[in-house]
Amino acid sequence: MSDYEGLGERIAGARRGLAQAGIDALLVTPGADLRYLTGYHALPLERLTCLVLPAKGGPRLVVPALEEPAAHASPAGASSPARLGIQIVPWQETEDPVALVAKILGGVSGTTATTIALDDHMWAEKVLAFRAAMPNAQQVLAGPVLRHLRMRKGTAEIQALRSAGAAIDRVHARMAQWLQVGRTEREVGRDIADAIIAEGHTQVDFVIVASGPNGASPHAEVSDRVIEAGDTVVVDIGGTTEAGYCSDETRTYCLGNAPADFSEYYAVLLQAQQAACKHARPGVTAESVDAAARDVIAAAGYGEAFLHRTGHGIGLETHEDPYIVAGNSTVLEPGMAFSIEPGIYLPGKHGARIEDIVVVTDDGIERLNLRPRELAVLPI
Ligand code: ZN
Ligand code: ZN
Ligand code: ZN
Repeated sequence: MSDYEGLGERIAGARRGLAQAGIDALLVTPGADLRYLTGYHALPLERLTCLVLPAKGGPRLVVPALEEPAAHASPAGASSPARLGIQIVPWQETEDPVALVAKILGGVSGTTATTIALDDHMWAEKVLAFRAAMPNAQQVLAGPVLRHLRMRKGTAEIQALRSAGAAIDRVHARMAQWLQVGRTEREVGRDIADAIIAEGHTQVDFVIVASGPNGASPHAEVSDRVIEAGDTVVVDIGGTTEAGYCSDETRTYCLGNAPADFSEYYAVLLQAQQAACKHARPGVTAESVDAAARDVIAAAGYGEAFLHRTGHGIGLETHEDPYIVAGNSTVLEPGMAFSIEPGIYLPGKHGARIEDIVVVTDDGIERLNLRPRELAVLPI
């Protein structure tokens, strides 16, 4: 039952958000928003699948006839224990599904005063087709309504993030098996990708193995660079679990003794990551968490070397609200989940990052990644 926990409440919440924002209907195509609202995990295809949720009136799921069995088998189906009350409306191969949606919205699209929210990641092809079919409706983004719901994770979502965190911890725990002198980043990356699946994900989202000078680029992926003795290596990896929730964890390793200047700033980085974790709690802003990490790094003289925001929200997507960045005055609330991942990057030399996913509790945070954060020295 826990898989469906709160699903019906999400549709009700979306409806309340629409009403408050003066939006008449919500259209959601396959992606994280659709999975969040209905539990239906569909791939975005050229054939239209679309949740049609009027502010008033029953939700419908318009699906290609070919996908109808999959839709019925999902939590959106009438016989699912989730009992979402969604009517599934199949369209045949030669029908026009966009016209079908316009017809469902009927009265809504007929007047000039209507506003229709579209999911933020809808394909432009579909956005423009809806615009042409409902020329009098104003199109707005659904993000401002849905982000308030998606940011505050429920118990089942937190449990799903916890098991994703434990799964990626198990991959980091095995790093010494693969990260060895004489191997290329790409070879190491392939082994890590296999382990991401083996340890409890259904999809590999990204594998960063940034050795030596490559570590100075926060979004380096893998290259054919051969790992040498004395190299420091930033390993940032993540995947998606069966339940749809993502993992994302960075640890920095060293093969043998680290260079002296590296050890000096790694200690600063570790302190910065701790400071941000200590600061994060309900009632403080997202930007103050960024500042808590940044102040430590700046005070030690490495301010310019911390090139990116401190973190990003995580859930059904690896990067989602809330972003932990200067300018984001979002106040943290229990259930919000995000990364705390300060880094220090010295171009031409090396770099380091420490990243944990955390979830806000009633009086602080819970870390969902528990691997040691001290510099991990691997034998050579
Ligand atoms: Zn990133
Ligand atoms: Zn990461
Ligand atoms: Zn991250």
